[in-house]
Amino acid sequence: MTTFKELGLNSEIMKSLSDLGFLEPSPVQEKAITFILKSKKDLIALAQTGTGKTAAFGLPILNQIKTGRKDLQAIIICPTRELCIQISEDIKKLAKYSKGIITTAVYGGERIDIQIRALRKGTNIVVGTPGRVHDLIRRKILKLQNIRWLVLDEADEMLDMGFKDDLDAILEETPKTRQTLLFSATMSKSVNAIARKYMGDAEEISIGEKNIGAEKVTHEYFMVHPRDRFEALKRILDYLPGVYGILFCRTRRETGEIADKLKEANYDTEALHGDISQNMRTNIMDRFKRKQVRLLVATDVAARGIDVSDLSHVINYNLPDQNGAYIHRSGRTGRAQKSGISISIITPREVRRIGELEGTIGKKFELKKVPSGKDVCLKQIDNFLEEIEKTDIKNTNNEQYFKNFIERLKKINKEDLIKIFLTHKFNHFMDVYKNTQDLNATAKIFNTRSGEENHVSLKINFGKKEGFDIKGLFALINSDRKLKGIEIGRINLKLENSIFSVEKSRADDVVKQLQGAIFRGKKIDIKKSNETVGFHERRRENQSRGFKRKRKGFKRRSNI
Ligand code: ADP
Ligand code: MG
Repeated sequence: MTTFKELGLNSEIMKSLSDLGFLEPSPVQEKAITFILKSKKDLIALAQTGTGKTAAFGLPILNQIKTGRKDLQAIIICPTRELCIQISEDIKKLAKYSKGIITTAVYGGERIDIQIRALRKGTNIVVGTPGRVHDLIRRKILKLQNIRWLVLDEADEMLDMGFKDDLDAILEETPKTRQTLLFSATMSKSVNAIARKYMGDAEEISIGEKNIGAEKVTHEYFMVHPRDRFEALKRILDYLPGVYGILFCRTRRETGEIADKLKEANYDTEALHGDISQNMRTNIMDRFKRKQVRLLVATDVAARGIDVSDLSHVINYNLPDQNGAYIHRSGRTGRAQKSGISISIITPREVRRIGELEGTIGKKFELKKVPSGKDVCLKQIDNFLEEIEKTDIKNTNNEQYFKNFIERLKKINKEDLIKIFLTHKFNHFMDVYKNTQDLNATAKIFNTRSGEENHVSLKINFGKKEGFDIKGLFALINSDRKLKGIEIGRINLKLENSIFSVEKSRADDVVKQLQGAIFRGKKIDIKKSNETVGFHERRRENQSRGFKRKRKGFKRRSNI
C-alpha cells in the first residue's frame, strides 16, 4: 500500500490529512490521485458510495492549483444541494493549510445574488449543482473558458435526475483542453453516452464493491404485515435507545408523514426532502450533525452523498425499488472505520428481495424478531439502569440537595423505592406496551412441485441489467387488464433476460397481450421457452392486490 506522501502530495496537504486522520489512501484514491497528478488525460472512475471519492479528485486538484491568483481553475458538478455543501466543506478541510485557495459552493434554493457576489470576488474552485451552474453561466457570471479540471461527481445520479440538458450546456462552455474527471457508482448507458460525447480517450478505474466501511455494516431485516410497519418501526426504535441514523422512505410524502407521526410520538426526528426550504434543510442538517436530531427521515435523493461519519443505523422503512439504491442507503453507516447496522422492514411478499440483495452486496441478512412490548420495556429499563450504574455521585457538589430528601424517603424500603422509581420513570412506556401483539409475520412460500406440470416457461427480453425485478414482472403482468390475476410460478431473473412460468392455460394469452408492447420504454419480446427455471420455491400471489399502478406500467417515481 502506497502512502499519501509517496503519491506525491505536498506538505500542506499532508498536514490537513493528518488533521483529518486519513492514514492511508483508499483504493480509488490511490489510483485516481496517481493518475491525475501525472496525466492530463480524462478519467472515468467507478466506485461505490463511501469509498472516498471526494478526496480522490480533491487532493490531486488542490496539489496542482496555481495559487496566489483569483481565477477559476476547477469546477465540480454534483447532483444535490447537500452534496454540494458537503463537497465544498470537505475540500476546504483538505485545503486548510494550502494558502490562498478559494472554494465556492453554488446551488439552487439559496439566494443567487449572494452567490454572485462570492463569485465576483474571485474563486479557484467552484462546487455546484447543474441547474444553478447553468443559470450562472447564462447570466455570464460563471465563465468556464479557462478551467483546467471539470469533475462530474455522482454522474449517474445527475443523469437519473434529469440534469442531462444542464450538463450538456455546461460542458459546451468548457475548453477542449480541460481534463474531465467523471466519478460514478455505475457505468449506465447515459453515463456512457456523456463519456463518449464529451470525453477524450479516457482512462478507466473501477473499484469493485469495496466500500471503506461496507465490511463493517451488518444487515438485518424484520418481517411484518404492511399494516404493522409503523408500529414495528416504533418498537425497533424503542428497542435501540442510542440510535443515531437515517430512516429511508420512498417518497417525499411518506417521508413527511412518517416524520410527523414520529414527532407526535416524541422521537427526535426531522424530515429531509426536496419540498423543504434550503434554510430549513441546512438547519436540519446542522442539528443532525450535532445529534440534536437523532433520526433523519429522508428520501434517497435528499440523503444522497450525505456523510455523517458515526451513524449507528440506517433503517429502510421499506426497500428501495432498485437494489443499487440499497447499497447507497446502507453505505451511509459503517463509515470512517466505524461499524453500523442496516435494518430493513419488509413484508412477506418482499422476502425474495432479501435473497436478491444478498447477491448484490455479497453478504447475508439476518432475520430479526420485532421485539414484544415486554422486550422493549425490559430493554429500556436495562439501559436506564446501566446509565444509573455509571453515574458518578462522589464528585458532585449537590450534597446540600440530597440530605433532606434522603431523610424524607427513609420510610420507604429499598425494594419499594426501586419499584416506585421505575414505575414513575417508565409508567408511560409500560402503558403504551400493555397488551401489545406479536408483529412478526411469516413468508408464505408454496411448495414447488405441486402444480408445476400445469406451468409453462416464458422468456422475456428484460433482465437485471435494466433493473427488472420481481416487482417489475408483477407490474408488467398487472399492467394489462386481461392478464391481471394470472398465477406466476417460478421466476429466474438473469442479466439480459428473464424466465418465468405461468399457468399453462394462460401462457398464450400472456404472449399475445405482451409481445411487441412497450414497457419502460422498451419493446417487449416474449416467447415460450424450454429453459428450466432455477428457483426452488414458488409463490402464489394474489397479484391484483397491492399493485395499484395498472396499464401504464411501472414508471420510476420522482422521489426527491
Ligand atoms: P464517496 O464520495 O465515495 O461516497 P466520501 O468522499 O464522502 O466518499 O468519503 C467517505 C468518508 O470516508 C468520509 O467521511 C471521508 O472523510 C472518509 N475518508 C475518505 N478518505 C479517507 C481515508 N483515506 N482514510 C480515512 N477516511 C477517509
Ligand atoms: Mg461522494
